[in-house]
Amino acid sequence: MTTGIWILGNQLTFDSDLFQLQAPNQAPDQAPDQARNQPIILIESLDYARSRPYHRQKLVLVWSAMRHFAADLRDRGYTDVTYICADPVNPANPAHNFATPLLNWITDRQITTLRLLDPTDFPFRRTIEAINLPGTVTLEWVANDLFFWSESEFIAWATGRKRLLMEDFYRYSRKRFEVLMTPASDQSGNAEPIGDRWNFDKDNRKPPKGKLNPPPPLTFEPDSITRDVMAQVAALGDSLYGQLEPFGWGVTRSHALQVLDDFLTQRLPRFGPYQDAMLTDEPTLWHALLSPYLNLGLISPQEVVTAIETAYRESIGSDRELPLASVEGVIRQILGWREYMRGLYLVFGEDYAQSNTFEHDLPLPDFFWDARKTDLNCLRCTLSQLEASGYAHHIQRLMILGNFALIAGINPQAIEQWFHAAFIDGYDWVMQTNVLGMGVFADGGKLASKPYAPRRTISTK
Ligand SMILES: Cc1cc2nc3c(=O)[nH]c(=O)nc-3n(C[C@H](O)[C@H](O)[C@H](O)COP(=O)(O)OP(=O)(O)OC[C@H]3O[C@@H](n4cnc5c(N)ncnc54)[C@H](O)[C@@H]3O)c2cc1C
Repeated sequence: MTTGIWILGNQLTFDSDLFQLQAPNQAPDQAPDQARNQPIILIESLDYARSRPYHRQKLVLVWSAMRHFAADLRDRGYTDVTYICADPVNPANPAHNFATPLLNWITDRQITTLRLLDPTDFPFRRTIEAINLPGTVTLEWVANDLFFWSESEFIAWATGRKRLLMEDFYRYSRKRFEVLMTPASDQSGNAEPIGDRWNFDKDNRKPPKGKLNPPPPLTFEPDSITRDVMAQVAALGDSLYGQLEPFGWGVTRSHALQVLDDFLTQRLPRFGPYQDAMLTDEPTLWHALLSPYLNLGLISPQEVVTAIETAYRESIGSDRELPLASVEGVIRQILGWREYMRGLYLVFGEDYAQSNTFEHDLPLPDFFWDARKTDLNCLRCTLSQLEASGYAHHIQRLMILGNFALIAGINPQAIEQWFHAAFIDGYDWVMQTNVLGMGVFADGGKLASKPYAPRRTISTK
C-alpha cells in the first residue's frame, strides 16, 4: 500500500493536513522519518496554461513558485519528489496535460492511494475527477485548510440565515478567532472590539491630495529558476497576455515574508486613509500586494492577521503607534472579505458562474487585451498598469474595470474570463464572487446589497 501526494500549484505550504505524517516533535524544516520516502508529485500542464490567455507573469509566478517549493521539499529531506516541467521547447516532454505524467507516476511508484488537498475551485476539481485512475487506486481528498474557515464551518454559519451579510460574518469571525478584541471584561464574559467599534470604514476614505509619495513595491530579481521559466513562457508565443518583463514578483515563502514585513513597516500606517483612493501614476499606493502569495499558499491568512495585530499591539504608546483604522481596515479585508467571498463561492455552487441577471450580452471590447486601443484615460491607465505587472488594486478593479463592464453591458461571463486570465492573483474561487457579484452585480444581489454604478445607467431589459 503506497500513498502518493499530488501537490497542486496553489497549495505551496507545509502547514497543511496534506502532510499528515508530520510528527508533533518534528523540526518544522525537516521531513519526518516516516514521510521521507513518500512519493510526491508536482505537475505543470501546458494544456492548462493554454486554456486561457493568461498573463505571462502569472504563469511565471506559479511555475517558478512550484519549482522553488519542490527544491524546498528536497532540501527538507523528502527523497522521492517528482517534478514535471511544462517545457514547450522540448517536444518530447509529456507534460501537456495532468493525466499522462500522473498515471505514469502512479504506475511507476505502484501507488494505491492518491492524496490531494481539495483545490476549492470547482472546475479544477472536476478536471481531476475526470482523470481515469486505475481501479486499484483510491482518490483521497483532504479538506482545504488554507483559510480561517473550513468549508463545512462556513456552510454551517450560512445555513438558515435570512441574510448573508459580510458585516455579520466579519463580526462573528473577529469574536471566533479573537482578533482585535479586548479581554472579556464584563460579567457576561463578552469581549468587545478594540476601539469600541467594529468598523472604521468611514475613516478610510481620505481623498488623495497633494504629493503623497507612496512607497515603491518590494520587488525581487529573478534567479536562475525564474529565468528558466521566463524563457519557457516566452516560447509559448503570442497567445498570452501582458508583459513578461520586468518580472519582480516573489516566488518563495521567504519572499512572501519579506513582502509582509514591507507592508507592516512601510504601508500599513497609511493603508487605511487611502484604501479607497486612486492616483494616475501610482498603481499600488499603500496596498499590501499580498494576494498573489496568500492565494498560492506561500503565506497563510492566519499568520498575516496575527502579524498585523501583533505589530499594532506592540506599537501602542510608541511614537510610531499604528492607526487602528488602518489595522482594522486591512484585517477586515483578510479575515472578512477574503473568507466571505470564498465561503459564498462554495455556498452558491457551480451554477453561480452562469449568473446574468441583466442579460448583458455585449462582447468584451478589444481594448481589454490591448490598452492602446482605448482613449478613455482611466481605463487606459489601469489596463496599461495591468499589462505591465498583472496587478491593479481593489478600487481600480471595482470602480474602473467592473463599473465600466456593468454600465456598458458587457457579458458577465466574458468579463469574468478576462479577469481570470489577466490578473496575477486570479483563481476561480475568488473571481466568481468578486467579478460577478461585487463587480457587475450579475447575480442580482445575492452577494452585494447594491450595484457599484449610478442607477439610471443600468440596463434592466
Ligand atoms: C472585480 C474584482 C476582481 C477581483 N479579483 C480578485 C482576484 O482574482 N484575486 C484576489 O485575490 N482578489 C481579487 N479581488 C479582491 C481584491 O481586489 C484583491 O484581493 C486585492 O486588490 C489584492 O491586492 P492587495 O494584496 O494589494 O490587497 P489589499 O487591498 O492590500 O488587501 C489586503 C488583502 O485582503 C484580501 N482581500 C481584500 N478584498 C478582497 C476581496 N474582495 N476578495 C478576496 N480577498 C480580498 C486580499 O487577500 C488582499 O491581499 C477582486 C476584486 C474585484 C472588485
